[in-house]
Amino acid sequence: MSAPLDPRAGWDLPAPGTMPAVAELEPLVTRVLAPNPSGMTLDGTNTYLVGEPGSGQLVVVDPGPADPRHLAAVRAAAAARDAEVVALLVTHHHGDHAEAAGPWGALLGVPVAAASPAVAGPGGRLLAPGERLALAGTTLQVVPTPGHTADHLAFRLASGAVLVGDHVLGRGTSVVAHPDGDLTAYLESLRRVHALGPSALYCGHGPELTEDPGAVLEFYLAHRAHRERQLVDALAAGPRTVPALVAAVYPGLPAELVPAATRSTRAALGKLAAEGRVEPAPGDVVGPARP
Ligand SMILES: [Zn+2]
Repeated sequence: MSAPLDPRAGWDLPAPGTMPAVAELEPLVTRVLAPNPSGMTLDGTNTYLVGEPGSGQLVVVDPGPADPRHLAAVRAAAAARDAEVVALLVTHHHGDHAEAAGPWGALLGVPVAAASPAVAGPGGRLLAPGERLALAGTTLQVVPTPGHTADHLAFRLASGAVLVGDHVLGRGTSVVAHPDGDLTAYLESLRRVHALGPSALYCGHGPELTEDPGAVLEFYLAHRAHRERQLVDALAAGPRTVPALVAAVYPGLPAELVPAATRSTRAALGKLAAEGRVEPAPGDVVGPARP
């Protein structure tokens, strides 16, 4: 049983740490990289400025961390587009995407729009699945993508590109962590974005994926199916504890990555339990799997 191959291995993507601070991805979209690189955020959070050229307006998708350097960079990129910010959209509530939404909304005097009331704030706007936002001379379609978090949204642009937040990352795979993450919902969301036939995926972290976005989504689905087979195989010999399952599925994992792998494994077990394929047992033990 071999792991599925990542199609991006053969693509000409920038090496980690070499993404440009500001990049025009297409006439509608400028990306500004936030200064918050880490193991979880890769090169940093990608903040996207979206607007029809000549409209004089743009929307900011995922303002990112509330860092004055990042605000200055976003303002400079808006000025270079000769446009003012008219709204802030947020893909999900994690701080590396949403922290600046409240403060920047107040500072710029523009509304924050998101799926969760906590992110949208008192004067904000709650986004509904499927709605089309007419903003900055263009249209953004709200695509529900729960899984990474329950409140996760993607935004489909008029060009066919999709801003996917942390649903898909420019490198590696995304974390679906118990208990906020839901693997069943995540897989449905991957299929939903695939069905849109995106011309490009603009990710919350890492490089933009333009060469064959559908192949990346298929790889993400295959990767999850592979992990699930590994879990079912590890349970074939009888009940195991969750830590024992993590050790079986992720041999040789560095200690600092074990907590994330454990939350991911719990999310995978949650899917199998919901399907009646494993039995939770006392003492953090998971009982035999049915294929
Ligand atoms: Zn993130």
